[in-house]
Amino acid sequence: MRIPFIAGNWKMHKTPEESIKLAKEIDDFLKNNEDIEVDVLICPPFTSLYAISKEIKNPKILLGAQNMSYEEEGAFTGEISPLMLKEMNVKYVILGHSERRQLFGEKDEEINKKIKKALEHDLKPILCVGETLEERESGKEKEKVKKQITEDLKDVDKEKASLITIAYEPIWAIGTGKTASSNDANDMIKYIRSILKEIYGMDVSEKIRIQYGGSVKPHNINELMNKSDIDGALVGGASLKSKDFNEIIDF
Ligand code: PEP
Repeated sequence: MRIPFIAGNWKMHKTPEESIKLAKEIDDFLKNNEDIEVDVLICPPFTSLYAISKEIKNPKILLGAQNMSYEEEGAFTGEISPLMLKEMNVKYVILGHSERRQLFGEKDEEINKKIKKALEHDLKPILCVGETLEERESGKEKEKVKKQITEDLKDVDKEKASLITIAYEPIWAIGTGKTASSNDANDMIKYIRSILKEIYGMDVSEKIRIQYGGSVKPHNINELMNKSDIDGALVGGASLKSKDFNEIIDF
């Protein structure tokens, strides 16, 4: 049985003080709603991770980073290493987000190195994949997602593969207010699981959680989570307001 998994990607929002405030509002909500059986992850900017790791001690709020270097140490100005993340109690790391791919030119080969490095340090990757609008309109969405998954997971050990989460995020649905229909999202997620089965076999593929991401809001989370194969959500905009995020957690 896969536990539902809701993650908030705060992107480049929230100063350290603002981050603590938001994290405390989520913390309070979870303390008052102990029956919620969902893994909750928040991914603030790097600059807020240390403060949150010191302030929030609730084991029900997991901490994640939005990116990571595949190097451990050295002359790599501006980069953040897995060792730094681990010391701040970070458990997860988002890798291959479409904004990193599109705006910062990250390639599958680099994402693959990051995934391997994260796993080497027991950081759990959330690998983001998804097609552009053009690819969907020309019927190439599955081809694109398969290519990303096979290249990003190339030579990733079967032993560690179940620690990975995949986030299916159609690029045209991110931050646009447009969501994939719950049927389309479920269909793609089923397809992703079939690719994982081809690579890792049934056992491992059944353990890997697959989230949907793209304009997830309080009003559509329930329908998405009711689908057979959607294990959770990666939430951008709606994770910045505790009221919205808490409603999503409590789908
Ligand atoms: C995201 O950035 O991963 C995302 C899904 O954003 P939004 O929820 O704002 O579409």
